[in-house]
Amino acid sequence: MYEMRAGPATTGSSGLVWHVLAKDDARTTLCGRQLSPQAQPPGPAREEATTERYCSSCMTAFRETMETATR
Ligand SMILES: [Zn+2]
Repeated sequence: MYEMRAGPATTGSSGLVWHVLAKDDARTTLCGRQLSPQAQPPGPAREEATTERYCSSCMTAFRETMETATR
């Protein structure tokens, strides 16, 4: 299973987006961004309120990963 994590957008747009975490490294996203676990204080309500957008680079990498896995 893949986890989602809110983080700064990589495409230059402002605000936060949902990144997909790499399967074998919970601190690295599929678009190559390094996430610091300490940078995000725990709090489900806060995390839900951060963003509704998704990282396009992560989505592309995620789709390619799924296609490779099912090939
Ligand atoms: Zn991303």
